[in-house]
Amino acid sequence: MGLIVQKFGGTSVGNIERIKNVAKRIYKYYKEGHKIVVVVSAMGDTTDELISMAEEITKNPSPREMDVLLSSGERISSALLTMALHELGIPAISLSGRQAGIYTNSIHTKAQITCIKPERILKEISLGKVVVVAGFQGYDLDNNNITTLGRGGSDATAVALAYALKADICEIYTDVEGIFTADPRIVPSARKLDYISYEEMLELAGQGAQVMQLRAMDLAATYKVPIIVRSSFNENSGTFIGEVEKMETRRKITGIAHNKNIAKITVLGVPDKPGIAYKIFAPLGNAAINVDDIVQNVSKDGITDLSFTVPEKELSNALKIVKEIIPQIDAKDVLYDDQIGKVSIIGWGMQGTPGIAAKMFGILAENGINIEMITTSEIKITCIIRRDLVEKAVQALHDGFKLGEE
Ligand code: ASP
Ligand code: MG
Repeated sequence: MGLIVQKFGGTSVGNIERIKNVAKRIYKYYKEGHKIVVVVSAMGDTTDELISMAEEITKNPSPREMDVLLSSGERISSALLTMALHELGIPAISLSGRQAGIYTNSIHTKAQITCIKPERILKEISLGKVVVVAGFQGYDLDNNNITTLGRGGSDATAVALAYALKADICEIYTDVEGIFTADPRIVPSARKLDYISYEEMLELAGQGAQVMQLRAMDLAATYKVPIIVRSSFNENSGTFIGEVEKMETRRKITGIAHNKNIAKITVLGVPDKPGIAYKIFAPLGNAAINVDDIVQNVSKDGITDLSFTVPEKELSNALKIVKEIIPQIDAKDVLYDDQIGKVSIIGWGMQGTPGIAAKMFGILAENGINIEMITTSEIKITCIIRRDLVEKAVQALHDGFKLGEE
């Protein structure tokens, strides 16, 4: 019998009925003899509601107080779930992030885990208890403050605990059946994947598939934590995320990701000389703006154009920074486009398979979809296109690569 980390997302603990159901599921595993550490998100939209309340009071809430406020959501669900377990006769105890030994740096509202001291959890497990940890939060020991790990941070709590406790598996319970070949809301014939490699999942999550927090996925890939993403509303087996790339060579394309929340910035007339890209991107990096899909044109007469994408909500910030740099680097102008989106095909199998890129471009062309930028990695090809054509592109590519077929 092994040790399992089970994380339940906000929808899965969205009301008292659901909390009781989660307790019943845990009961089953407990009776089978497993040691269980549970990580919970806040109930339903609690975190959003807490944020709105703060916004009703101030435009600039203190980040420290935001963390005190937001961390309370997960405390509520952890205590309620623990009571539900008690009702079923299971010895259980809830622990806050701090009590669970989750230590972070001091970056409020998006703190990073620096170390985990799992002694208390291990002690409670050795006493035969199910341990219910409030997700999304940690403790900044240097300053004696509560911190939170960024939106969706309970995933990171679960993965980090699974690693620290050397768990056999980290189960992420959510309101979908697992990872799909494309977003099923856009492509009804999208197929649930039985397994996917860390690398492919990272690309999917990075390109906008929102099943798991990207940072948590990064942690899992780095520390090789085996993950199962599955629904908390049925017994289906979900999707295994792990080291599986070698098992599947016949699969060329694993999935399609898309993102409609990006914007493009183009810096015009950039002198083509060493250090310029650094001068543009260093300040963006310092402002924690997530730059993606960088394309530099071939230069003509020592002058070039440079385009890149940023999350749409960072556009105005990024523009402000770039405009300040323009005179310093002697560039001509900066343009932006907030009506773009992107679509990516992802898969290990595209390595060493000629013609995949051509096929993708062909499918887009047949559907009258113009490609504005292209970027690639070893296992991903991304096309930047008009935002209003993203769904059509996803459907056409899913069809064209026959991803709905087994
Ligand atoms: N409750 C937090 C959020 O909504 C953390 C989480 O759900 O993982 O972002
Ligand atoms: Mg979540």
